[in-house]
Amino acid sequence: MFDIHQLDKDYTTFRQEGFDSKWLNFNELNRYFNLKSTQKEQIGTSFLGNEIYKLSFGTGEKRLLIWSQMHGNESSGTRAMFDVINFFEQNSELAQTILSNLTIDFIPMLNPDGSNVNTRRNAIGIDINRDFLAKESTEIHVLLNQIEKGNYQTLFNLHDQRTIFNVGQTSKPATLSFLAPSYNVEEDVNEVRQKTMGIIQAMNTELQKVIPGYVGRYTSEFYPMSTGDNFTKMGYPCVLFEAGHFPNDYQRNETRKYNALAIIAGIYSIATKTDFPFDEYLSIPQNGQKYLDIILHNVSVQNGENSSIIDLGIYFEDEYNEELNLVEQIAKIIEIGDLRKFIGHLEIDAEKQIYKGVKKNYPLLNQLATFEVGIIKVENGQII
Ligand SMILES: [Zn+2]
Repeated sequence: MFDIHQLDKDYTTFRQEGFDSKWLNFNELNRYFNLKSTQKEQIGTSFLGNEIYKLSFGTGEKRLLIWSQMHGNESSGTRAMFDVINFFEQNSELAQTILSNLTIDFIPMLNPDGSNVNTRRNAIGIDINRDFLAKESTEIHVLLNQIEKGNYQTLFNLHDQRTIFNVGQTSKPATLSFLAPSYNVEEDVNEVRQKTMGIIQAMNTELQKVIPGYVGRYTSEFYPMSTGDNFTKMGYPCVLFEAGHFPNDYQRNETRKYNALAIIAGIYSIATKTDFPFDEYLSIPQNGQKYLDIILHNVSVQNGENSSIIDLGIYFEDEYNEELNLVEQIAKIIEIGDLRKFIGHLEIDAEKQIYKGVKKNYPLLNQLATFEVGIIKVENGQII
C-alpha cells in the first residue's frame, strides 16, 4: 500500500501553498493554524508570550509526538508538517490506515520567538535543544509537560542542518540526515535505540528509491544536555531529523518535500509494524562536512612583484534585518588557499584572472563576498 513513488507524484496535491520561503515566522504560521482551527489546542506560550499550539490527528492506540522549530531558524520540518496534515485530510486509504492505528500530535514551532528573528536560540538566548537538564527556558517546559501528559511511545524531533554537509565520502549533499541518539557515553544500543534505528532504516529504505545517496547519518556521541539523548534515556525512541541541502534549492522546498515523504514513511512503519529491523542502520553513510556554497578556483592575487594563485570559498548565512523585518542572505569569504578537500555547490574556474576587492586587491577572511575577478563580478555572493 505504501508507494513512495506514488506519494512523490501526488505531492503537489497535498503540498501546503504559500510556504515557499525558508524563513517562517510566527505571524505567517498563525495564518495556517487558523485554517486548522478544529484540531488546534494551545499548550503554552513562549517567553515573549507567543502561543505554542498542538494539532492532533488520528484515533489509533499508538501515540506519536512530532515537534519542529525548537531552533527558530529551522523551518523545513514545520513546512513539511503542514504537507503531511494536508495528506491526512485527503483521507486516502493510506492516510486512513495510518490514522486508524496511530494518534499523532504535532507541535509546529516550539520556538516562535526565535523564528520571528530567525535565530536558533529562544528570545533570551537559550538553545532549547540543550536545555533538558537545567530547564531554564519557558519553551522546554511546554514540551516536557506535553510529553508527560501525552502517553507517547515514539517522538520525532525535526531540525534543519547547514549546507556544508555531504553524505559519506561522496559529493552528494545530505538532503536528509538522521540520528538514533545515545542514552549513555558508551553509546550502548538497547531496545529503545533499536526501535529508533529501525524507524530510520524504514524511512531510509524508502528515501533511497527517490533520492538515492542523499541520506546521511549523524555520529551517536552522547550529549548529556540534549533533548533526544535524554528522551532516549527516559525510554522514548526519539528520531532526530536534520533537513539539509538539495541542489539549487536554497529555500529548501525540494528538501521539505522529501522531509514530508520521510515523515509519512516513518509514521506508516510505526502504524503498521511491531517489529523494526535495524541491521542496516549503520550502513547509512555518516555526514561529512565537505561543502561550501561557492568555490572560485585559480584566482590570481597580485601585489607588485608578488602574486599567488588561490581558491576562494564562500558561505551563505541568513541574517535578520530588524529595520526591514526580513531575512537577508549574506555571503562571506570563509576559506582561502588550497580548497581541494572541499566541494562547492557552485564551482567556478577563474582562469587566473586578477582579484580586485572593494578596498584592497587581496581577500580577507570573513569579509563580505563582493569583489571582481577579471570579468567575473561577485556581489554579496551573487555572480552578476
Ligand atoms: Zn536544530
